[in-house]
Amino acid sequence: MSDPNAPQSQDALPPIQILIIPVTSFQQNCSLVWSPETKKGAVVDPGGDVPLILKAIEEHGVDVEKIVLTHGHIDHVGGAADLAEALKVPVEGPHEADRVLIERVKDQARQFGLSDVKPVEPDRWLVEGDTMEMAGRSFEVFHCPGHAPGHVVFFDRELRLAISGDVLFAGSVGRTDLPGGDHDTLIASIKTKLLPLGDDVSFLPGHGPASTIGRERENNPFLR
Ligand SMILES: [Zn+2]
Ligand SMILES: [Zn+2]
Repeated sequence: MSDPNAPQSQDALPPIQILIIPVTSFQQNCSLVWSPETKKGAVVDPGGDVPLILKAIEEHGVDVEKIVLTHGHIDHVGGAADLAEALKVPVEGPHEADRVLIERVKDQARQFGLSDVKPVEPDRWLVEGDTMEMAGRSFEVFHCPGHAPGHVVFFDRELRLAISGDVLFAGSVGRTDLPGGDHDTLIASIKTKLLPLGDDVSFLPGHGPASTIGRERENNPFLR
């Protein structure tokens, strides 16, 4: 047993390292997640700007083992096929309810005036209760529809950290006017799955700054 009051060694490595790489005109928070100890990691939601993501991977010397997707919107999946091909890694997520969105990513591209996007074929669809391993850690999978039908959220219970995509933002929630969106379903996902994780949990959203569940429970106007 180690003494919890003992001072931490100065060169103790953090359990996980996360670099936010804003991608596409939507400034989507693509994240490079890795273990500082092993350098093994993953890319979450490579929506586009693949050269930028590859450069960050090289700069930090990360051994990317997989690509992980929270949902099927173009700003989250637009670069996944190219990145998977470049790195020769599998793609995990989202929930299969987003299959149609992903298959029609070219239609999404047209809608938003983007081009040069290929649909990706996930190697593993995720469901509620699954475990998704990345950067040497286990993340619990929560299926949180409402913004997109197949949206999933990843949660490291020990680190008190969630990667929440476009479900919940600092001061806002995901839009629900896109195909398959539904506001009541979204609010139910947040209230039944994210708020119970605990006020101390930090979450990293798909757009904008990070926040905590507690801060949003108190101040988010959509959760009153
Ligand atoms: Zn979205
Ligand atoms: Zn988004």
